Amino acid sequence: MSEISEVGCACGQVRLALKGAPILVSECLCDSCRAAADRLATLPGARSVLTSYGATPCAEYRKDRVRILSGTERLSEFRLSADAGSRRVVATCCNTPIFLEMKGAHWLSVYLHLWPDAARPKARIRTMAGDCADASNLPDDIPNLKSHSVSFYAKLLGAWIGMGFRNPRIDVTGTIDA
Ligand SMILES: [Zn+2]
Ligand SMILES: [Zn+2]
Repeated sequence: MSEISEVGCACGQVRLALKGAPILVSECLCDSCRAAADRLATLPGARSVLTSYGATPCAEYRKDRVRILSGTERLSEFRLSADAGSRRVVATCCNTPIFLEMKGAHWLSVYLHLWPDAARPKARIRTMAGDCADASNLPDDIPNLKSHSVSFYAKLLGAWIGMGFRNPRIDVTGTIDA
């Protein structure tokens, strides 16, 4: 039996059940994640998901291991531009960013701030440090990769093989701008 973690938005209306361990846990330093975090932080009551050095911490989960337990009707999608393939899904009850869905991806990047401090998974790598104007102020507790590693993609591919190359749809009705 795989362990189920329950995480949710700041006010508790949106709850997710996550089955088993994430595929990987990382911090993204790319320009898109930083821009999205900054824009979403301007929504009323929102808190920034960024670390002090501008990283976005996420746990990557297979889509078939993420179940929305409550608050589906509160979820809205945010895109950096009208034609952006990737979307960030936000709980509009309290403007908590919930996950990033990359275009065509079979996984969701669930924002680590959904976990209570004590239960939060630890990031193992930072990716996309090449996007930082100055990477010299990054902590050196875990590897800071310029882009992504082969093992990063290998883990995602392994997960997709485990899913039989299926890609479940995540339905979100609303859209928001920030
Ligand atoms: Zn909420
Ligand atoms: Zn990113």
